[in-house]
Amino acid sequence: MIRLRPLTLAGLLLAMTLAPHVSAAANVTMPPDEAPFWTGSPDSAVFEARLRKRLELAKASISKMLGAKAPRTIENTLVPYDEALRQLDMAGSQASLAENVMPDAATRNAAEKLSQDVAAYCTELSLNRKVYDALAALDVSKTDAATTFYVTRTLRDFRLAGVDKDDATRAKIKTVSDEVVAVGQEFSRNIREDKSTITCTADELAGLPEDYITRHKPGADGKITLSIEYPDAVPLFSYAKSEDVRKRMYMVYNNRAFPKNIETLDRLRAKRHELAVLLGFTNWADCITADKMTGKAAVARDFIDRVVTASQDRQVREYQQLLTARKKDAPGATAVNFWEVNYYKEQVRKAEYDFDAQQVRPYLPFDRVQAGILATAATLFNVEFRRVPDAPVWHPSVECYELWDGGKLAGRFYLDMHPRPNKFNHAAQFDIRTGLAGRQIPEAALICNFPGGVAGDPGLCEISDATTYFHEFGHLLHTMFAGHGKWVGIGGIRTEQDFVEAPSQMLEEWMKSPEVLATFAKHHQTNEPIPAELVKRMNRANAFSKGLDVRRQMVFAGSSLACYDKDPKGVDSDGIFSGFIKKYQPFPFVEGTHFQCAFGHLNGYSAVYYTYMWSLVIAKDLFSKFDATQMMTPGVAKEYRMKVLAPGGSKPAAELVSDFLGRPFNETAWKKWLDREDQ
Ligand SMILES: [Zn+2]
Repeated sequence: MIRLRPLTLAGLLLAMTLAPHVSAAANVTMPPDEAPFWTGSPDSAVFEARLRKRLELAKASISKMLGAKAPRTIENTLVPYDEALRQLDMAGSQASLAENVMPDAATRNAAEKLSQDVAAYCTELSLNRKVYDALAALDVSKTDAATTFYVTRTLRDFRLAGVDKDDATRAKIKTVSDEVVAVGQEFSRNIREDKSTITCTADELAGLPEDYITRHKPGADGKITLSIEYPDAVPLFSYAKSEDVRKRMYMVYNNRAFPKNIETLDRLRAKRHELAVLLGFTNWADCITADKMTGKAAVARDFIDRVVTASQDRQVREYQQLLTARKKDAPGATAVNFWEVNYYKEQVRKAEYDFDAQQVRPYLPFDRVQAGILATAATLFNVEFRRVPDAPVWHPSVECYELWDGGKLAGRFYLDMHPRPNKFNHAAQFDIRTGLAGRQIPEAALICNFPGGVAGDPGLCEISDATTYFHEFGHLLHTMFAGHGKWVGIGGIRTEQDFVEAPSQMLEEWMKSPEVLATFAKHHQTNEPIPAELVKRMNRANAFSKGLDVRRQMVFAGSSLACYDKDPKGVDSDGIFSGFIKKYQPFPFVEGTHFQCAFGHLNGYSAVYYTYMWSLVIAKDLFSKFDATQMMTPGVAKEYRMKVLAPGGSKPAAELVSDFLGRPFNETAWKKWLDREDQ
């Protein structure tokens, strides 16, 4: 449920962008602007040379901008600035993608170094006083609203990045920012490269679905090896009857990248604190929220408090339901342990809601889920997706599609949907390049780890997989629809970070609709569509743990903020995480676990994990304008696309929302959803 935003630095204009006809790294053939980024299937050296050339082109465009003769105009200043951002956006996004998906270590390593170099140059640029002065000298009184907003916001971001500090401070900001990037990469790499496993016996897989057992055959020693990747771990927590195997998995799962990342996280927090202070803030949380909808850490903290209060009664009630179920197996039990949570959630769903998630999986073979998601999005937004079977891709399992809108090619995307060694192990949309009207179409990729992709295995998904897929696809559509503006710097998903999850979380509603699901969720053996009655039961059953799930998110949100809202010296991360778990969740904290070591968001999102729930509040309000009984009616979706998605980052998010709703957003629809029992 996440999305990576490459080039994320303090308040820095993330998107950062050159002009052709500049010779940089000699003899490098660049793909044409409209062509797939992986054209020619470059080897590690060529790929690296291409991205290095983009970096050179960006620098050359900035030189051109600075060298322009007075007076400063949009043409001689903002145009070359945006061109520099266009090149940096491609170099940064593509390096970030490569770092996370390329099958060969040479390309991944080259990409990691490139990411650092691009980020370093972006920091340098954000501290370049001459660039700031040139942009500040622009007369925007006669330009269009988007251009005015672009210049105003860019100047603010420059100030947030420290451009107005003295030379010595700016130099220090630069050094520390580069260190933050490098330490952050180390944190993420340690998580990605943890290949821990557990072993178990065939008996210990009792309760798990047939296809899971088929995929996990014992080795010569009679032992079965289970990885800590989602497809192995998630079903085990939900279905394994053996408490012992669940507990063993829980301990390994919650010690991923431990102990390495304890020390790495400490360094990351210290470096970010140092950076925040240099930038004139008291802590990193205030610094990172300065360009968000919340504006400061205290607003985020109040929001978390309100969510905690609103979910109190519901989580107490749900915990009692879990404990009652646990007592049926263990009459003397006084608590539900973490490794029992998902298992007893399933038991409660079976016993009290007459629902077994196993009943849904046969209707969700991966290929049908994918086809259904594409078809649903195509109908809803009135666009067409065309598979490009011979497109250049980085791995044979990756599929390429084009998006056609009104008879025009309007975007291209890649679906890399199944696990493989050394690949990013969550689910996210990755930008590849931001679209620009008349110049280049947007490109993006979904990098996920769903079942399927193995010959002879139908790849039966959980409903949560389908929901995650549509969620990530929502980010992708946002990138595609917002990629046709006149500036890269405000194109694509460049709204405030605490808004970006709203459009995706809203689309999750479609995966709860019996009518929508019936169009593609068909039994892999009988072809019978999923019964509406089963979907309704599923929604009621899944609503069951809403209070507990909201609280779990608040542990992430609260601890992410607390990691960064003070000088981290002497404040150990174990204390923060166990503290929030004890405060917000009813399950006893398990000594010897260090979840934060594998909490990848502490790098990317740093202090602002609250953004998911903040966005959900907006998502529920946005959805209130749709007719829940007529989900596929295109009228509202068209207005939504035009008013919320297509403008990209050309307006403050609060305005995009109020343009669509006809009023400012509020928490009413979210609270109503929190209290609902039927979904
Ligand atoms: Zn997301």
